[in-house]
Amino acid sequence: MQDHNNEEKKDEYEKICFLCKRPESKAGKMVDMGGGICVCANCMQNAIDSMKNSGLSYQDMMNMSMPAQVVLTGEGDEKQDPKDSEKNENKDSGIPNISMINLSDLLGGMGFQRQQVKKKKSKDKEAKKEFDIKAIPAPHKIKAKLDEYVVGQEHAKKVISVAVYNHYKRIGTADADDIEIEKSNMLMLGPTGCGKTYLVKTLARLLDVPLAIADATSLTEAGYIGDDIESVISRLLAAADNDVDRAEQGIVFIDEIDKIAKKRNANQRDVSGEAVQQGMLKLLEGSEVEVPVGAASKNAMVPMATVNTKNILFICGGAFPGLEDIVKERLNKQAAIGFFSDLKDKYDEDPNILQRVTVEDLRTFGMIPEFIGRLPIIFSLQALTKEMLVRILREPRNAIIKQYQKLLALDEVELTMDDGALEAIAQKALEKKTGARALRAIIEEFMLDIMYEIPKDENIGSVKITREYIEHTGGPVITLRSVVPQIESKQ
Ligand code: ADP
Repeated sequence: MQDHNNEEKKDEYEKICFLCKRPESKAGKMVDMGGGICVCANCMQNAIDSMKNSGLSYQDMMNMSMPAQVVLTGEGDEKQDPKDSEKNENKDSGIPNISMINLSDLLGGMGFQRQQVKKKKSKDKEAKKEFDIKAIPAPHKIKAKLDEYVVGQEHAKKVISVAVYNHYKRIGTADADDIEIEKSNMLMLGPTGCGKTYLVKTLARLLDVPLAIADATSLTEAGYIGDDIESVISRLLAAADNDVDRAEQGIVFIDEIDKIAKKRNANQRDVSGEAVQQGMLKLLEGSEVEVPVGAASKNAMVPMATVNTKNILFICGGAFPGLEDIVKERLNKQAAIGFFSDLKDKYDEDPNILQRVTVEDLRTFGMIPEFIGRLPIIFSLQALTKEMLVRILREPRNAIIKQYQKLLALDEVELTMDDGALEAIAQKALEKKTGARALRAIIEEFMLDIMYEIPKDENIGSVKITREYIEHTGGPVITLRSVVPQIESKQ
């Protein structure tokens, strides 16, 4: 299996002529001599010529066990293998001062390694289409995969699956005809901790594309203290192991995008707001960016690579505090006017008001129109409810509870939580107003004692966390190993 992988890896590299050291792309077709050695046609011809010049007939050459042998001349050749020379004498080649050396033996001793020159991908369209359209999973399949990890957010998962599918289809069919599919960059709105980053991370993992996550708050206009906008691409390149082709098909997630809204009534130079939005325009649309390889900043010592952002999918996310009021105000104003005038405060209690956001609202918030124009897909995530928090605790593939269960299972202890406990944790998390992020902190707090105490006593067979334990009015139910069969027999 490993051999097979090694073989595949070797195929990525060009063959190098063992004698003149030129790669296949320069020296032309190689003759494989076995033992990982290749010789170009030119050197091969020279070798044969030199043999002929030294009086060797074709018949003699055929008698030598070519191709793994090459002629080396010279008196007192120190590397001469006595066995080889014996063999040659037996063959009676009759040429003085010529000895035969098996190159594979020689190379074994020299620790020969093939020079690592990556094959250059041919520039034709076929080769560039790394994304085979048929290989891209259909939207429903992408969503089904997301469902395994991300709880709720049905609308968001649907939108993102379709957008990503279209995006990679767009890459796959680029240059095929005149119709150019527009880039599906996205803007994701939703309160903190509702799963924005998690959704993008899961997506990138499922699609096996590189992902860079940046925080818009740290971005400033080039030349100011902070990260300049192009550093995002540099991070993507690092995530793609400095493979430019892979990076060019990756995903960039820029969080906290609401923090670069235009400052209202600003009379100072706005280096981290509007200027950053302006700076990002060309990146979002597609341009060639020179980025340092393996470093965050440009300087003379760092090699540079050119990355084209045309096929990079940009997803921006933010909580946009205050946007709800803007949407409500607009809706209420509309509702109060004309024939269809409605209750003035109809929308005040709507928890999913952000779903009704329009480009106009985002402009009022402080995003510049050119910027929003380059993020054609706008959607929002719901704030997590108590029921969703309970499901997050229990359902996802890597749910927190499952992680603790696995940890305790290693001590052969079974961990369970009753419904009351899950609800109590969700309630506590809801009060913290940081979405699902609060869950882990709460669980870590009460699991600390359990993780500390359980390994002390080998007789403990199972632990059940109860609502009372979470609310500090009781303890967990601990069952000893020897007692387990008795309880079962009672029931
Ligand atoms: P934000 O929306 O602020 O970017 P995150 O995506 O970082 O929030 O969420 C924080 C954590 O909460 C994630 O790592 C994930 O474990 C959990 N989480 C949030 N929302 C969900 C969800 N809908 N389903 C499953 N886990 C979630």
